[in-house]
Amino acid sequence: MSDQVRVRFAPSPTGYLHVGGARTALFNWLYARHTGGVFVLRIEDTDKARNTDAAMQAIFDGMKWLGLDWDEGPEKGGAHGPYFQSQREDVYLRYFETLKAAGHLYEDGGAWRFKFSRKKIIMDDLVCGRVEVDMSNAETHPDMTIRRPDGGWIFHFVNVVDDIEMRITHVIRGDDHLSNTPKHLQLFEALGVQPPRYGHIPLILNPDGSKMSKRDTGSAVGWYEENGFVADAVVNFLCLLGWNPKTEQEVMPVAEIVRIFDVANINRKAAVFDLAKCEWMNQQYIIKMPVEQLAPLVEPILAKAGISTTRETLIPVLGLVRERLKRLTDATAWVDYFFVEQVVFDPEAVEKAMRKPGAMDRLRALDIAYQLLPAWNAADLEATLKATATAAGVKVGEFVHPARVAATGRAVGASLYHTLEVLGRDRVLARFARAMTEFAG
Ligand code: GLU
Repeated sequence: MSDQVRVRFAPSPTGYLHVGGARTALFNWLYARHTGGVFVLRIEDTDKARNTDAAMQAIFDGMKWLGLDWDEGPEKGGAHGPYFQSQREDVYLRYFETLKAAGHLYEDGGAWRFKFSRKKIIMDDLVCGRVEVDMSNAETHPDMTIRRPDGGWIFHFVNVVDDIEMRITHVIRGDDHLSNTPKHLQLFEALGVQPPRYGHIPLILNPDGSKMSKRDTGSAVGWYEENGFVADAVVNFLCLLGWNPKTEQEVMPVAEIVRIFDVANINRKAAVFDLAKCEWMNQQYIIKMPVEQLAPLVEPILAKAGISTTRETLIPVLGLVRERLKRLTDATAWVDYFFVEQVVFDPEAVEKAMRKPGAMDRLRALDIAYQLLPAWNAADLEATLKATATAAGVKVGEFVHPARVAATGRAVGASLYHTLEVLGRDRVLARFARAMTEFAG
C-alpha cells in the first residue's frame, strides 16, 4: 500500500455551501496539496428527500470559486467512483452482506442494526488528542441502525464503506462528528480494516459566542462572490478560522499556506467568525492586486450599476481609488464620477464647500490658473493650487474643497490632484464652469 495521503470532502447536498463546510473542504485540500496527496470530492446524497440539485451546484460552484480543485470526484472521475453515494448501491450491498455473514447485524422491525462491541473506544484524534468513549452500556450506546426498513442506508455505514473503498487515509471534518467516530471505528473493526486517522476541527462561532447559523450574514460561500469579495482573500480568511499559522503575519498567499499548513496546527478551541476581519482581509488583497487583474473583476460590477467604462480608462481610475475599496462592489460609489457626463452633487458637500462666502471666487481664480497651465499633471496641479492659495492668503483647504466638489460632487475621494489629472483638463474645466454657474451668488 502506498502512503500517499488521500483525503476527502463529503458534503450532503441539502443546503448551500456554508462557511463551515467550505472550511472543512479547504483544510482537506490544503492537507492534500501540502503532502502531494489526493483530494477526493464525494457527494453524500443518500437522503433523497433532502437533497437538491441547486445545493449540489452550489457546492461545485463554491469550491471552484474558492479554487479548491478536486482530483477525484464528480466531473473528474477517478479509480474509486462513482462519487455519488446514490450510485453506489451495489457496493453497500456487498459490505452489508459481509457484515451480515459475519454475524454483526440483526434485524429489528424491518431495520438492520449493527451490534456494537461492548467496550471502551479510544480515539487518537489529530486535533482533539486522546478521547475515550465507553460504549459498554447498551442503554447509553444502543446498537446502531445501518439500514432502514425501506432499504435506505444510514449515514454511518455508507460513510465508512466509502472511506474504505476510496482508500481514505485522513478524515478531517467538523467536530459535530466527533461523537460519531467511535461508531465508525467499530465498523472498521468489524470489517477488519485499518481506520483512517481522524481530525475533528472546531466549531465556528459568532463574535457573541453563539453558534454560526445559516441565517448569519456571510454564512453562505455564494454571498462573498455576490458581495464583492476576492476569492483568495476569502480563502486566506477561512484558513485563519481555526488554523494557527504560528506567525504574526495573517495576509498570506495560498501557495504559502499550502507550504506551511499542518493538521497539528489546527486549534482545539472554537473559531470566531468576524465579517469585519474578512472585509479587512479583502481590502488587503485589493490593495496588493495589480490593477490589470482588478479591472476585469470590477467591470461587471460597474456594468451592473449602469456605469460603462473601457479597460483603458478604468485602469488609472482603479489605481487611484483601490485603497478605499473594502469590497469590489464599493467601486461603484468611488469611480462613478469618472465616467458620468454630469457629476451628481452631494448636498451636504455643496453646503459645506460651495456655499461658503468667497468659495466661488476662489474656484474662479483656480479655474483661471488651471486654464493657463501648460501641462496637466498631478504635480503641476498641486503646485498651482497651492500658489493660488498663497496668493489669496488663505489655507490650501479653501481651494481644495470647492475644487473637489466641483470635479467629483463629493467631499471625499482619492488624492485630488491625481483625480484631476485622470479626469483630464477638458472635463475638469467644464465641471468647474458648471459648478460656478450652479452655485453662483
Ligand atoms: N456528509 C457528512 C456531512 O456533511 C460527511 C461527514 C464526514 O466528513 O465524514 O457532515
